Amino acid sequence: MSILEVKNLNMGFYIDEKFYPVLKDINFNLKYQKIHAIVGESGSGKTLSCMSILKLLPSNSQITNGEIIYKNKDLLKLNEKEIKKYRGREIALIPQDPMTSLDPLYTIFDQLYEVIDIHYKMTRNDAKEFIIDTLKKVNIINPEERLNNYPHQLSGGMKQRIIIACALLGKAKIIIADEPTTALDVTIQAQIMQLLLKLKNENNVSIIFITHDLALVSQYCDEVSVMYNGQIVENANAYDIFDSPKHPYTKALIESIPTITGNKRIETIYGNVPSIYDKIDGCPFHLRCKYCFHTCKKINPNFKKVDNHIVRCHLYSNLDV
Ligand code: SF4
Repeated sequence: MSILEVKNLNMGFYIDEKFYPVLKDINFNLKYQKIHAIVGESGSGKTLSCMSILKLLPSNSQITNGEIIYKNKDLLKLNEKEIKKYRGREIALIPQDPMTSLDPLYTIFDQLYEVIDIHYKMTRNDAKEFIIDTLKKVNIINPEERLNNYPHQLSGGMKQRIIIACALLGKAKIIIADEPTTALDVTIQAQIMQLLLKLKNENNVSIIFITHDLALVSQYCDEVSVMYNGQIVENANAYDIFDSPKHPYTKALIESIPTITGNKRIETIYGNVPSIYDKIDGCPFHLRCKYCFHTCKKINPNFKKVDNHIVRCHLYSNLDV
């Protein structure tokens, strides 16, 4: 069962009065109490796809088409006042760098109390116990002492836990985690991933996990959408993606994961992700694809259903979805 559906989402930017399309026909469903990974190289459109859900896009952007359905409402049709009710309370965001979300001038208590004040109108005294309980849930040690700390007094892992606590205080049903572990070392990374898994299982949270780290996806995620140049090029459950990837880009990403034993050559993907200014005819991956043939240079493939995968590639000639 899906809790959120993104349908035919198209958006782009106005730069020097010219419109540049960025996201093209993005479709994915976030299933209830699952972790849905959105993977791809930097610049593939992962973050913009998710920021569109909360309408947190730059002022020179425009969503030109699509629907984002949550609780039978199209979030894209809501005005700024209406969408604010969803931010934090229904759908929370965990950013890559928690320092950009925590205000360095306020204590942790003040910042967490602000979340409660917005949603529940509780007094500071009544809120204190609620906040301490929530900090315990996100594995903050000595939460009573931490309340008086400023963000600079906490480690990166602790700051990220505080942001996750904000999502819990707002009782968000969906968390969008945008590369939440990129700025952390490997052991803390594992702890944060375990914490997200615990929230999913114990608090019935559904998670969109944006990452370029396929190793994390294979360990923690249920569904995967692979993005390239503003398009989803493959979608399937995590087992199928890693067991039998279909799209050449997905295959190349998986072949570039290092192994612990180091006995396998790590493949690289030739070339770079195209920029917003590059106009590419045909399949956007054709300049880097080792399977490219003449049709690929002329026609952008439609979605095909191949086994349990949805794939955008001319190598598969099954029925259009
Ligand atoms: Fe490669 Fe052609 Fe498939 Fe694009 S459509 S991924 S160029 S084989």
